[in-house]
Amino acid sequence: MLEAIIVLLIIIGICAWVLLSPLLTKWRRNRIRNKPFPGRWQTFIEQNFLFYHRLPQSLQPKLQGYIAVFLAEKQFIGCGGLQITEEIKLAIAAQACLLLLNDSGDYYPNLVSILVYPSAYRVKPTKRISDYVVEERDEVRLGESWTRDQLVLSWEQIEYDMQNWQDGHNVVLHEFAHQLDQGDGMINGVPKLESKTDYLTWAQVFTQEYQQLQSDAQRGRKTVMNKYGATEPAEFFAVATETFFEKPTQMVRKHTVLYRQLKHYYKLDPLEWT
Ligand SMILES: [Zn+2]
Repeated sequence: MLEAIIVLLIIIGICAWVLLSPLLTKWRRNRIRNKPFPGRWQTFIEQNFLFYHRLPQSLQPKLQGYIAVFLAEKQFIGCGGLQITEEIKLAIAAQACLLLLNDSGDYYPNLVSILVYPSAYRVKPTKRISDYVVEERDEVRLGESWTRDQLVLSWEQIEYDMQNWQDGHNVVLHEFAHQLDQGDGMINGVPKLESKTDYLTWAQVFTQEYQQLQSDAQRGRKTVMNKYGATEPAEFFAVATETFFEKPTQMVRKHTVLYRQLKHYYKLDPLEWT
């Protein structure tokens, strides 16, 4: 009898936790969002991100709220001797949260830690050639997004990107676009969308544009998007995101439908910021 009561209490406890946990998270996030945004954070963002001034007025406090929660929830780890500063955290948070303004990213739920190296870092990925041979090659990377709760970035590259917003390259936007893509557990260049129709349109537009970039890359044609986007659909989405935010004028001219699709997804129009 006692055992049955204990089991029942455990089941009730688990059910209560499952039901209450999202409410508690929502309450905690609202509390963080409603706190005044620190003046020095605001100054840093205003001085380093021109897009902030151009955002519609209603979106500035919304971005601040996202940044505050992001900073409260994510763990930043300095690697290779790098000391994590407020500046590093804000630089990453401001750009990562720009991608959340459409309210569909849910604070990158799979992401726990952000590892930051002082500059480009070396990794030794292994590639299985056969059952007996494993190839190990040295690779230099600027960033990567892992499905298992970590994302890696180079601070030197982030600083460079902040000073060169319109060159079409942005390691933070790139890696966090991968996080959005991975949100549904699949790495296929398709983030979580609002409706069935959105998925159909997305597949149509992205497949066509991806194939076009592959063809342009093979033929050595000049492209608005980085040719790295032609390597696989997931990279195409990440590169398209960088281009959308950093080179909207060129993108809308050469890839009007793709631009429109990204504008619909991110619920932002970077053309208005130029
Ligand atoms: Zn990538």
